[in-house]
Amino acid sequence: MRHIPILAYHRVVDVVPGDDYYGNCLPRTLFAEHMRTLAEAGYHTISLEVASRRMGGDEPIDPKSCVITFDDGYLDTYEVAAPVLRSYGFVATVFVVAGLVGRRSLWDAGKCCTAPLMDWDQLRELARRGWSIGSHTLTHPELARLPVDEARHEIVDSRRVLEQELDRPVKTFCYPFGNWDEITYELVRLAGYAAACNDTWREEHRPFALARRLPGPGPHPLAR
Ligand SMILES: [Zn+2]
Repeated sequence: MRHIPILAYHRVVDVVPGDDYYGNCLPRTLFAEHMRTLAEAGYHTISLEVASRRMGGDEPIDPKSCVITFDDGYLDTYEVAAPVLRSYGFVATVFVVAGLVGRRSLWDAGKCCTAPLMDWDQLRELARRGWSIGSHTLTHPELARLPVDEARHEIVDSRRVLEQELDRPVKTFCYPFGNWDEITYELVRLAGYAAACNDTWREEHRPFALARRLPGPGPHPLAR
């Protein structure tokens, strides 16, 4: 399968050391620098839906297209990251935990502090501005550890809830904790999604397990 770079972000926040269990927090200034780097290197952003069609097709791929994704739907995606993206004319795809919209990241409890998540109005506003909203299940479980029926419920019903609340098709998915196996993969494919993302430590690159890169404090992977 062909490649269009997919960047993975989680939280954009200046976090106290020791409170970033997963290494998923990026300071605001660094995030702003990343976006400037992309713009200066001539990149433009496309949604994951469009990217997945192009990766699976045989039309030429614009080498300066990329996808920006945010996992989890944290409030700082709306408050901090979205204005920076907007200043460059960028859009992103955000994977939302459909059962926790407007609440807190309860799956973080015990490992780091839970953080506030976007509410439905904020998600609708991003969608109106051209962002794409994907599913990240209902409750953020490790899907491959669940009984098949429960995993299917998380995958199928999260999409239904999102489509109902946002009044638009939801075609993309992302596995919480990057946790999936071949059964989970099939459940996502059969649920009617068009594409799904891997976590960043996985190297597979398949239609329902697309590889992503996690830009960190080092040189940006798409820098000129
Ligand atoms: Zn997640």
